[in-house]
Amino acid sequence: MTVNETTPDATDAAGIGLLRSQMVIGGKQLDAVDGQAFEVVNPADGKVIASAPMGGRADVDRAVDSAQKAFDDRTGWANWPAGKRGRTLAKLAALIRDNSEELARLESRNVGKPIGAARGEVVGASLVFDYYAGAANKLFGETIPVSKPGLDFTLREPIGVVGLIVPWNFPILMASWKVAPALAAGNAAILKPASYSPLTATRLAELALEAGIPPGIFNVVTGPGGTAGASIAAHPGIGKVAFTGETTTGQEIMRLAAGNVKKISLELGGKSPHIVFADADLEAWAGSVTGSVFDNCGQDCCARSRIIVEQSAHDRVVELLAGATRRLKVGDPADESTEMGPLVSLRQRERVMDYIAVGQREGAEIVVGGAPPDDPALAGGAYLMPTVFDRVRNDMRIAAEEIFGPVVVVIPFDTEDEAVRLANATPYGLSGSIWSRDIGKALRTARGVQAGVLSINSNSSVHTEAPFGGYKMSGVGRELGMHALELYTEVKNVFVDLS
Ligand code: NAD
Repeated sequence: MTVNETTPDATDAAGIGLLRSQMVIGGKQLDAVDGQAFEVVNPADGKVIASAPMGGRADVDRAVDSAQKAFDDRTGWANWPAGKRGRTLAKLAALIRDNSEELARLESRNVGKPIGAARGEVVGASLVFDYYAGAANKLFGETIPVSKPGLDFTLREPIGVVGLIVPWNFPILMASWKVAPALAAGNAAILKPASYSPLTATRLAELALEAGIPPGIFNVVTGPGGTAGASIAAHPGIGKVAFTGETTTGQEIMRLAAGNVKKISLELGGKSPHIVFADADLEAWAGSVTGSVFDNCGQDCCARSRIIVEQSAHDRVVELLAGATRRLKVGDPADESTEMGPLVSLRQRERVMDYIAVGQREGAEIVVGGAPPDDPALAGGAYLMPTVFDRVRNDMRIAAEEIFGPVVVVIPFDTEDEAVRLANATPYGLSGSIWSRDIGKALRTARGVQAGVLSINSNSSVHTEAPFGGYKMSGVGRELGMHALELYTEVKNVFVDLS
């Protein structure tokens, strides 16, 4: 297991050996063609924990060649009975569970996730593989009563070589959302993890080989977005690119993908509304609100980070939110009781702190947080206390831009129409929550809000079985559920003349 290889004379603060991660291409574990590598840092203490190959254009070429060969194999993956593909993906799901503690610890040290949350994500990824294991042989076409005498039917076929580019906030989970449906449909995949978080991607590809997925069907290229990622997006040998990340990167990928008119699916940024009517069960709301905005240190595209509250409930909502926020335990991600770890990097913390300064200049008021923790034991990490801003207007930058950190803003409204107008006054449209005991009002509001993933009297946003994706500048296409299989298949119509 290459990712677990350690250099005997080097250990990090926890006494764990440094890891040497490699790419997985054509079933082989490889360094970059030019031998370059980059360091992977633990954001909890700033220490280097691993090195990973700095892949670029030549490595992507190599991965595309391997993937194309594996896809073209007449007795290979794409031509296996769908049920056999499904059973192999189920083996991979089981291997993820068998290795879940190792994967969770790897992820937690790599991106600063509290260990409990990291375990949940690894299990979540295994459930995604289970779902698409079952879906593989439930993907079928139609027969269509056309006007000519004959039989008309459709086939759902894999696209071929697909490029999958994922971010650092939920590394193994975002990878599973793409790899599992892509492979279930019979494609050959090239996964590129974010530079901050390459470790579990490589390990996942190793487990895929162990599960019996043929070499070349699931490849991992590590390296920077501007070179490795851009080469995938532009490569003429890749038929589809699926991307999760920032909206501006998504726009660049659309441009790069235009060269060979790649199929694209994009899961992009968000600034999601969280509408609280005065008649809501505020105690129940307070029970889940911190999770919806501060989970993963707020580095969550679905964070419902604009709390749009009916004026008459404003004071009570701010009191409940402030109380719940103060109770959150910020600390070492390896500690079982930690609820919020560090941000992914010191650079990301600096970016978020710049937003906090902008909010103060704009005249918003910090109710809780706003600075790194006082605890000297956390001084070396990218920690930041969860922050609540009150007296915010929707046109302030802290309400308009995706901060991607533990910062939430409270914006009051007077009427139902105003709540919907404020919710939609953003270029994004990913998710949102609506809280009210009046189900008619909640449903009217849900109809009005332009977002792909809404919850009523709940802050949960992701269900493996249900579609996930954004309106407006939050993306193109829907992942998860049976919808995701449409992203990884072509539809072929066949007419047979029976006259
Ligand atoms: P990012 O856009 O910086 O990077 C995402 C991935 O794209 C990385 O692998 C990166 O290396 C690669 N990349 C960067 N530049 C590239 C280029 N020019 N060509 C090809 N690839 C390139 O995003 P991030 O900082 O890793 O993640 C945070 C962003 O992701 C946030 O905006 C967040 O909202 C979004 N996100 C969206 C969803 C969703 O489902 N909608 C889920 C998670 C994260």
